[in-house]
Amino acid sequence: MVNDGSGTRGLWEATAPPFQTGSTLSRNITVDVAIVGGGYTGCSAALHLAQQGAKVAVLEHMDIGHGGSGRNVGLVNAGMWVRPHAVKEALGEAKGSALLTFLGQGPSVVFDLVRRFDIACEAVEQGTLHCAVGAGGMREIAERARQWQALGAPVELIDARRTAQMLGTQAYRGSLLDRRAGTIQPLAYARGLARAAADAGAQIFTQTRIVNTARMANTWCVTTADGIEVRANAVIVATGAYGAHLNAADTVAGELVRLPYFNMATQPLTAAQRAAILPGRQGAWDTRSVLSSFRLDDQGRLVFGSVGALRSAGARVHHDWGRRALAKLFPQLAPVSFDYQWYGWIGMTSNALPRFYRLGPNMVSISGYNGRGIAPGTVFGKVLAELTLGHRSDEDLPLPLTDARRAVGRRIRSVGYEAGASLSHFFGSRF
Ligand SMILES: Cc1cc2nc3c(=O)[nH]c(=O)nc-3n(C[C@H](O)[C@H](O)[C@H](O)COP(=O)(O)OP(=O)(O)OC[C@H]3O[C@@H](n4cnc5c(N)ncnc54)[C@H](O)[C@@H]3O)c2cc1C
Repeated sequence: MVNDGSGTRGLWEATAPPFQTGSTLSRNITVDVAIVGGGYTGCSAALHLAQQGAKVAVLEHMDIGHGGSGRNVGLVNAGMWVRPHAVKEALGEAKGSALLTFLGQGPSVVFDLVRRFDIACEAVEQGTLHCAVGAGGMREIAERARQWQALGAPVELIDARRTAQMLGTQAYRGSLLDRRAGTIQPLAYARGLARAAADAGAQIFTQTRIVNTARMANTWCVTTADGIEVRANAVIVATGAYGAHLNAADTVAGELVRLPYFNMATQPLTAAQRAAILPGRQGAWDTRSVLSSFRLDDQGRLVFGSVGALRSAGARVHHDWGRRALAKLFPQLAPVSFDYQWYGWIGMTSNALPRFYRLGPNMVSISGYNGRGIAPGTVFGKVLAELTLGHRSDEDLPLPLTDARRAVGRRIRSVGYEAGASLSHFFGSRF
């Protein structure tokens, strides 16, 4: 699952500062906490544990940010994908409100960490725009605005004229500006978190695939594919949608239906184009069910994304659609060509909310961010650190404990997403 041809992280790989701290684990070690997976969840947990003096090892199969954390769009959003009311309906008023408050503060936690640890990740705190397609899109964002404003969140409905000025296209009826949000270079942020964790004392091991965890005399023995052992009092499984090779990681991934999402990056725009397209550097996405997202990076490249996997026949279909769709959105960019393209897998859950598992004594995991994992991965990583240190109980968590169960028909549904996106893009933006 991890190595399914989606190796490249495209633009992010080309422009992220290198991460030189990691090495392959080559001898047996003993730590307080072993963390499997080097994305936002694992690296944030490692940072917050190491800051409290815990002896921590991050064990990453490939390299830091190999999974969603090195491939995403970089929209640092507050809350979850679903509307606030849906969170309360799923979790009840008390837990739902607690989760919304907790995740509403997520972006500020991310940007505070970026400042505090001087993480060079192109952070831009100018908000994000959810862009309305047609009358249905306007109803959707108006309802979201109403629900967030009732919670006191700094969100604002923007009319069509101002939306056009902020985006540089007249394609949308309006938009919802969330001032809590912003953008980052996602792989640079993941590496920055890992570097901060290492500076705080965490050991970071890359190219280190974990294949077994076994309980032995009140401790865990975590074993790599090379037979090296890590003895730990506690284990955090932070493998998300990229979990593989290990029972615990398979359990976590087993509840997730994997949705493919790709990004393509243009050449740097000219100064005139940059003055017209996203002049305020907000990140944006639209209300379509097969949605599109777009944002600028520090070099002025437009990063354009949508649902789909850039493999087999889909690679050509999505690439051609991207050129047509972007030329339609921003005619001044035609003919469009892309310097980079890459894709990754998003872990979706049945109710679009994350999952919190206790996989054994002192073995915990949080996953299932449904395409909104930058801020949640960061803050839930911190929560996992606090749980592991005993500074929080399960009841203090704004997320109920989940019984691990496999999503029914998850592979077929994942194939369905992939095929549906290809079909939609084959016909899309032709007229
Ligand atoms: C294309 C795309 C676009 C997205 N856009 C956004 C966005 O704009 N905003 C947003 O907030 N979220 C977005 N997301 C979601 C976000 O990227 C993820 O939710 C987040 O990165 C998950 O972080 P994580 O640390 O839990 O898991 P991951 O980053 O997936 O990390 C899991 C790690 O575990 C490792 N691993 C797995 N099995 C093993 C093993 N057996 N041994 C050792 N290591 C193992 C993997 O190699 C991987 O590095 C997007 C995701 C994708 C794929």
